[in-house]
Amino acid sequence: MLFKPTFVFNTVTEITSAFLKQNGIKGLILDLDNTLTTHNNPKPPKYIIAWINSMKSADIPLVIVSNNKYDRVRPFAQMLQLPFISDGAKPLTRGIDEARKAMRLSKNEVAIVGDQIFTDMLGANFKRMPTIYVYPIELEDGFFFKVKRVLETPFLPRKHNFKSKVEKT
Ligand SMILES: [Mg+2]
Repeated sequence: MLFKPTFVFNTVTEITSAFLKQNGIKGLILDLDNTLTTHNNPKPPKYIIAWINSMKSADIPLVIVSNNKYDRVRPFAQMLQLPFISDGAKPLTRGIDEARKAMRLSKNEVAIVGDQIFTDMLGANFKRMPTIYVYPIELEDGFFFKVKRVLETPFLPRKHNFKSKVEKT
């Protein structure tokens, strides 16, 4: 099912390297807004920084793929010293593909982690990659706005400003 995640967690910090190992997952593609911090918040919370560091120590490669703009994503990724793709245009799969290739891993070895079914999960499911759904950190936009945004996202592919290269920080 295209909208169904493979795994569900409350937050990224519940994802352990042991769990990834058990499921043959060697790398993660991370959504940013509402997955690693609240929407447009320039700073990651401390518990997220600690989790990122634990993944790095376990040699799990991480790449941020966000649909948000370069000017939002770059400083955030730099702070965490993670490679990133901005204007990722999920659920289109070019950003996801580029990120996975940068890790030199195969499709079944990289899971997409995100808080939106119609962008993060759908994009990965198109590619038959494992998906890890996490509940959004904050539903700051209000319920109806959120529903509207979620429903319209697949129809607004923002192809024109898509940056397909993984940028190192
Ligand atoms: Mg998100």
